[in-house]
Amino acid sequence: MLTNNLGYPRIGSHRELKKACEQYWSGKTTQRELLQVGKQIRLHNWQLQKSAGIDLIPSNDFSFYDQVLDMSLTVGAIPSVYNQIILDRENTELDLYFGMARGYQQKGLDITAMEMTKWFDTNYHYIVPEFYKNQQFTFFSRKVVDEFYEAKQAGMLTKPVLIGPISYLLLGKEKEAGFHRIELLENLLPVYFEILNELKNNGVEWVQFDEPFLALDLSDKEKKYFKSVYKQIRSKFPGIQILVASYFEGLRDNIDLACSLPVDALHIDLVKDPAQLNDVLVSLPDTTKLSLGVVDGRNIWKNDYASSLAQIQQVVDKIGDERVLVAASCSLLHSPCDLELETNDSILVPEIKQWLAFAKQKVYEIVSLKKLATETADEGLKKEFMNNQHATNSRKTSSLIHDRAVKEREKRVESTEFQRASRFDIRKEKQREVLNLPLFPTTTIGSFPQTRDIRAQRALFKKGHINLEEYERALKLETEKAIRWQDEIDLDVLVHGEFERNDMVEYFGEQLNGFVFTKNGWVQSYGSRCVKPPIIYGDISRQKPMTIAWTQYAQNLTNKLVKGMLTGPVTILQWSFVRDDQPRSATCNQIALAIRDEVEDLEAAGIKVIQIDEPAIREGLPLRKSKWQAYLHWAIKAFRIASTGVKDETQIHTHMCYSEFNDIIQHIAEMDADVITIECSRSKMELLDAFISFAYPQQIGPGVYDIHSPRIPLKEEMVGLLTRASEVIPSDQIWVNPDCGLKTRNWEETQKALVEMVGAAKSMRLAK
Ligand code: GLN
Ligand code: ZN
Repeated sequence: MLTNNLGYPRIGSHRELKKACEQYWSGKTTQRELLQVGKQIRLHNWQLQKSAGIDLIPSNDFSFYDQVLDMSLTVGAIPSVYNQIILDRENTELDLYFGMARGYQQKGLDITAMEMTKWFDTNYHYIVPEFYKNQQFTFFSRKVVDEFYEAKQAGMLTKPVLIGPISYLLLGKEKEAGFHRIELLENLLPVYFEILNELKNNGVEWVQFDEPFLALDLSDKEKKYFKSVYKQIRSKFPGIQILVASYFEGLRDNIDLACSLPVDALHIDLVKDPAQLNDVLVSLPDTTKLSLGVVDGRNIWKNDYASSLAQIQQVVDKIGDERVLVAASCSLLHSPCDLELETNDSILVPEIKQWLAFAKQKVYEIVSLKKLATETADEGLKKEFMNNQHATNSRKTSSLIHDRAVKEREKRVESTEFQRASRFDIRKEKQREVLNLPLFPTTTIGSFPQTRDIRAQRALFKKGHINLEEYERALKLETEKAIRWQDEIDLDVLVHGEFERNDMVEYFGEQLNGFVFTKNGWVQSYGSRCVKPPIIYGDISRQKPMTIAWTQYAQNLTNKLVKGMLTGPVTILQWSFVRDDQPRSATCNQIALAIRDEVEDLEAAGIKVIQIDEPAIREGLPLRKSKWQAYLHWAIKAFRIASTGVKDETQIHTHMCYSEFNDIIQHIAEMDADVITIECSRSKMELLDAFISFAYPQQIGPGVYDIHSPRIPLKEEMVGLLTRASEVIPSDQIWVNPDCGLKTRNWEETQKALVEMVGAAKSMRLAK
């Protein structure tokens, strides 16, 4: 039996890589210094895994920005605009690389960054490869070989990780018409052969090919390619042990395909789909090894040794222990680095901490599982097993986690609790009377600029340098300024500005029971950006009202309507580490009920318009289409639980900041929000097509300008967009608003843009 790791976090336990990259980008340090930090992180990670007892230690899992971009550079898939960067002799491969990742504005060049998108259903984002017809590939960056050699020099024979050729192509995008990117395989494969050849010459034993698409819905053509690619690799490199890794989903209908690949080992994700094990064991050829992804690579919970050992034993019984590899479900890239750094008992109480394992701890779990499965346990190992089971059992029964009343309430949700009293057309009339809004009403998405000053106040408060009263005084001042200013420029539905919120999930998590936060639990989101998701460990309930005071304070400053501002249950769930001891849907319902209470309190406090943001509904979609319905069913229901406790007269808004609605438009309509605001300006209103062809009944605020750019939109442009919208949607259904919240913009940009926007709405009214 071997221990296997698919990948280790590369940001460094103290986010060393983030800091080093940002310093280099801002010109404060040299490239040499940055390279040095990278090297230290790699060596540290390898040594850690080696001393823990990992047999197959990954290399080339390190990246200065993104592993998919690394692969593009490796195979020379460099869009021609970026060649200008390398033409400058002072620039290095790393400058080219960062130029592709972040754009390049230097020395007279102005090149935008490559597109970025989400890595499957995680919160990690990768740089999308660009493909052209008849594209040729070359072995351009030698990173994979260099890092293998670097580890070898340090005394470790690693297992280089490459994104498999099929997944690599499927991850990308065609940039011209007339071909499918998968057809580039023929041109691409020779580069993989070259890489393997070099690795072979350097003494490689194992190579890992990540083929996450193997666990997704595949076309027949793609299936055929899988077979032929690995057949060719096998026949050219009989001496290298090839591991093909699937993850994030079960193999399902691809089991036979995966098992038929002529490779040495197959990795499966047994956390996401434990049930696939039986079928895989039936189809697995007699010589293929099986890498069992039993330790959860995407969540922070300690492994339950008893249950993993049962799975391992089942496999050993069937195929013997020599063909078994023990592993985490996927790369540990998606886990925070090291639980040992959480030393503040008042932030992460010991009772909860004992239930957790971060990347480093997971590495040790993998090794312990192998020992427990193969050795007669010595005292130390016995004790470790006992401790593990103790923690597992305490989590099952802890009063910190389990709240009877919350569970009962969740179970008893009645259908009346996810249904508004009246249909939309009836509500619409009642709302028209109460709210008294003009045609093309204007509003914003919630946040106003989070200035340096506000952040500074928050930091002072968190450090205890100013007290709550002083902090709140500063926030009140900002809120008042924002309200007065919105009044002045004549917006119709105002917002308080969200100055008191650091983050739209954290702000609520901090006030809800069942959440806990870490000090150092960072996970890479993209490039140098890291996120620190809250941990949902227990049953969720609201301690007390969370937003009423701020909303009411703002409402008292104006005669206009102030919109209450909440984060929706699916988004809170989606952007947290979620408990694995109950279905996600149950956790989501608990959050929904807490938000429902808040919505009702807002209404009782006289707030007539309430927005519940759900930007993450779409990203929660399962990877397999066959699972979409079930997910959408509970996700939409959770939103309805949160939003339907109000009178007909109270107007519910929701907000989503993306532009793909076609395939889920019916479900968006079923959310039954009175108004939805969406991102729209970058797609020039094209995305409204989905709403039109579906005859979307409720009101829509198609964002009229892009808040991600500092550019000030002109009134005429927005009139153009609104005119286009009003040609296809009845005018009394249209709202006027930006694409998203304004917290990342500065006040000057915000003020100019919103004045133009209000002007655009007024022109539209005149034209009617
Ligand atoms: N209300 C939030 C804001 O304006 C919405 C943010 C989002 O959609 N991501 O900041
Ligand atoms: Zn948004």
